[in-house]
Amino acid sequence: MTARLQTTLRGPEAYALARTVLDQMEAVGVWPTPLNFELWVHAAGEPEGLLAKEIQRLVATSEPFSEATAEMLAAEFLPRGRLTEEIRDAGRVLDRELSSVSHAIAKAHETQTAYGQTLDQAATSMQAVEDDHGFQTIVSGLSSATRHVRAENETLEKKLEVSTREVLRLREHLELVRREAMTDALTNLANRKAFDEQLARACETAQSDGRALTLAVLDIDHFKRFNDTWGHQTGDQVLRYVGSVLGRLASHPRFAARYGGEEFAVIFPHESVGLVESALEAMRSEIASRALRRRSTNDDLGAVTLSAGFAVRRPDETAADLLERADEALYAAKRAGRNRTACAERLTKAA
Ligand code: C2E
Repeated sequence: MTARLQTTLRGPEAYALARTVLDQMEAVGVWPTPLNFELWVHAAGEPEGLLAKEIQRLVATSEPFSEATAEMLAAEFLPRGRLTEEIRDAGRVLDRELSSVSHAIAKAHETQTAYGQTLDQAATSMQAVEDDHGFQTIVSGLSSATRHVRAENETLEKKLEVSTREVLRLREHLELVRREAMTDALTNLANRKAFDEQLARACETAQSDGRALTLAVLDIDHFKRFNDTWGHQTGDQVLRYVGSVLGRLASHPRFAARYGGEEFAVIFPHESVGLVESALEAMRSEIASRALRRRSTNDDLGAVTLSAGFAVRRPDETAADLLERADEALYAAKRAGRNRTACAERLTKAA
């Protein structure tokens, strides 16, 4: 959340802003779910921002604002802010731990220096000692100084232990937050941000090792019909189902992601065209093989079919160009009647 928005939501005008946002949502028929409200508040905080523009665009299409759409927007526009906040918090904890440890180290250093001086003084005093009593006094002074140093070291050790634990906890928490920010909440697949990063990395690797890299884009056929006929909750279940099959059949080193509303993408490193094609066919036929049922009424939802397009990366090709060719292949599959796979290379040859 931007600093400006945080101030607004905590200032005297916060309730007025919340009411305005709710009115705006009601006017365009959007349910006031916590996520929708969060998105709308963000958009209101930055009316010229990308999120506000995207919301305006979606509202203008008059399509219902589904849970899936809200989650896509949240994945794209909200986590970065959340992540920044978490990182800021983590920074504060690290600061606190570091200053506590450095304070303890400075104190231990002072004690060690004082101990060194005590030893020096004891050595000098020893030369001048005349009787047992004087000797005992020196020894007892040394023993007390040693106890003090030991206690100081124990304190330092404990502080280091606590700090190490705290830093480890923080690392695990940040890893969790990072994973959440990269995951599509509905399908549990990687989200678009994670996909973009992975594709860029895969292109770099393919450029340096010269091995094959193929990108496929898959889209559920007539998805709007599912939503219109059975409602968005069922539409979301269909997305979850497709996500679960893709996640299973595109396990590492393949990489599956939810790319947009009903669009998915799979990165295939080091695989021949034949292997990629048969993997895509396996995904499509497994998805189509199940007769889904609407949970609330047990109605038969029919089969879910997918269209897919894929492209093999050319030398020096950028991630954006590869994606564009895979997308073109997907549209060719759609144009050819859907429920099929098209290969960009074959389209080029045919042309
Ligand atoms: P979910 O409902 O959270 O189910 C997760 C997993 O639990 C399913 O993974 C499946 O392994 C198991 N499961 C859930 N309900 C049943 C059941 O009634 N019978 C059996 N044998 N197993 C069940 P799966 O199959 O990969 O599905 C993933 C998601 O896809 C489901 O998440 C659900 O959101 C959606 N889905 C799958 N099949 C249907 C369906 O027939 N109707 C609807 N509405 N959604 C479905």
